[in-house]
Amino acid sequence: MTASTTAVATAQTLTSVNPATGAEIAEWPVHDEVAVADIVARARVAASVWRDLGIDGRRKALLRWNSYLVNHADELCELIHIENGKTTEDAFLELVLAVEHTDWAAKNAKKALAPEKVSPGMLMANFEAIIEQRPLGVVGVIGPWNYPIYTPNGSIAYALAAGNAVVFKPSEHTTSVGNYFADAFAKANPDLPLGIFTTVNGFGATGGALVKSGVDKIAFTGSTATGKRIAAVAAETLTPVVLECGGKDAAIVAEDANIAAAADAIAWSSMANSGQTCVGTERVYVVDTVADEFIAALKAKLSTVKPGSDAKATYGPMTMPSQIDVVRSHIADALEKGGRAVLGGLESIKAPFIEPVILVDVPEDSLAVAEETFGPTVTVRSVKSVDEAVELANASKYALASSVFSKGQGMEIARQLRAGATSVNSVLAFAAISGLPFGGVGDSGVGRIHGKYGIREFTRAHSIARQRFAIPGMELLSFSRKASTVAIIRRVIGLRHGRHK
Ligand code: NAD
Repeated sequence: MTASTTAVATAQTLTSVNPATGAEIAEWPVHDEVAVADIVARARVAASVWRDLGIDGRRKALLRWNSYLVNHADELCELIHIENGKTTEDAFLELVLAVEHTDWAAKNAKKALAPEKVSPGMLMANFEAIIEQRPLGVVGVIGPWNYPIYTPNGSIAYALAAGNAVVFKPSEHTTSVGNYFADAFAKANPDLPLGIFTTVNGFGATGGALVKSGVDKIAFTGSTATGKRIAAVAAETLTPVVLECGGKDAAIVAEDANIAAAADAIAWSSMANSGQTCVGTERVYVVDTVADEFIAALKAKLSTVKPGSDAKATYGPMTMPSQIDVVRSHIADALEKGGRAVLGGLESIKAPFIEPVILVDVPEDSLAVAEETFGPTVTVRSVKSVDEAVELANASKYALASSVFSKGQGMEIARQLRAGATSVNSVLAFAAISGLPFGGVGDSGVGRIHGKYGIREFTRAHSIARQRFAIPGMELLSFSRKASTVAIIRRVIGLRHGRHK
């Protein structure tokens, strides 16, 4: 396996393994602080070439990268399958979404970054006022393992399209996939210098070194705990951050919902990728008149779902062994506090696989409702009204995304939810629509990726005020200003602002 970096790494290595079998996939040298600094310095040189290529040149390079990825889809999806554990079909869906985002960013950067003229206002009428967007320079992207290309690419593609170089630290659990992704960019663009999109490899310490390396922004996707640590370290150098953190997404099922469709969508959203989806449904609030019907439909659907690593598996193993203990503790806590398992239970844990678990009557202060489980479990609570559902959905410290099922009031309910995104009569739809910004509120994060907000997240606004002509006798920004000028302004300002009743 090749790495898109050429820097020296330390003697320490990390071994990437297949989570279903424990078989070794590859060994990667770990980059220490010195190696990270070296790679960031090279990226800084490459960044100016990439910036000077202009939006059209960058668009072509990004689309060539997409073609490379699509033309090597089988190889990449097999690598995602063996390193992350998800099925090759799910890996392919992830790849499709990633290339769609890159395509959008490449083709919409011109519009998103177009210079904008604004009115100079009455006092400055002799000026032209323009906002231009500049790339930041080098963006450090730190990624998780659950969607090893789609998730970090929400930062990578948009930062590249905005004219930045990117140094990417893939999760230690999906290092081979991360390096394949970056190598693909270099292979698709052999005429460009190395270092426009490159990787640093290692554990948390390598990510920490990237945060301290002097990059112009850190785009992090991962757990809330790590996000907070990164924000604290970045604050020391005032390095800006975008943080895409954990979630505890709720789905609301109203009385007028299409129950079969809601159960089908929620079954998939809560269990796909072994429930290791930041915007997967973890809590359901269903209005009591339709609760039994909904739970029966959800149970029927999930009874046919089976994890595994063979071609028949619906989803794969838990990627990270330690996450199995988290899931176990959440199920145990829910059952101890009076919750009931209507499908599965503790016996569903057959490491590294976990079969679907549906929990009902689980108190709101239990781990399975309050904390991110990140496994194939879902809690369902029957509520008296949609208002109660909204109140409980909004009570979480997390506020990443949500979904609403209702034939008549979907939009009305969606507008009351504290979340960065909501799907109405569907799940996760916002994540597949490139033009929609993506990001959380509260413990779910800061900032937005995707869409024009996602491109702007990786630029700085540069305001330019150009004096078109001088107005004799009206020098405001000068020691030559006359008392008579101020007297005129005093009168005009009185007329403009002093008469509101
Ligand atoms: P994690 O926080 O353990 O690790 C994420 C990345 O941070 C890894 O690359 C890791 O090596 C690095 N890291 C760890 N400590 C660090 C430190 N001190 N400084 C710098 N980097 C450090 O998260 P994970 O287990 O890989 O991912 C799962 C989490 O990611 C879940 O909470 C999930 O909800 C979240 N997630 C969020 C989104 C989103 O868009 N909001 C998307 C996917 C996953």
